[in-house]
Amino acid sequence: MITPKVMLVDDEAPFVETMTKRLAKRNLKVLTSFSGEEALEMLDINRDTDVVILDVKMPGMNGTETLEKIRKQFPLIEVIMLTGHGTVEAAIEGMRLGAFDFLMKPCEIEQLMAKVQEATQKRRNHEEKIREAKVMEVLATRSLE
Ligand SMILES: [Mg+2]
Repeated sequence: MITPKVMLVDDEAPFVETMTKRLAKRNLKVLTSFSGEEALEMLDINRDTDVVILDVKMPGMNGTETLEKIRKQFPLIEVIMLTGHGTVEAAIEGMRLGAFDFLMKPCEIEQLMAKVQEATQKRRNHEEKIREAKVMEVLATRSLE
């Protein structure tokens, strides 16, 4: 069983608190941030984060802009978008920009957990493939010597 390390990014503090408690109860490592700007700073020092759970509607840098920056700066980290009323378009745009998936708020915790597990598995597989490719490269170089 893998233990996902997630980052919850949402401007609504009570939502963040409640969700953090629920996710932590299910043995997830949870980091929190309240804006896109803060999320990017925190990801920079927490590069082993598996999944970002990202609110679409936030003041300042919105979810779509934050997603774009995360995909560019931390391409291995998977992103699940949280959408609300009137932000379905943003969810579609998010998928186009490389989000793993999206969920409508308020979301079922079990549904979110399932998506987090899937996204974490994808990230870990991706990392494993990169490790294997590096080993192959070393072996290939050695056989030429
Ligand atoms: Mg919001």
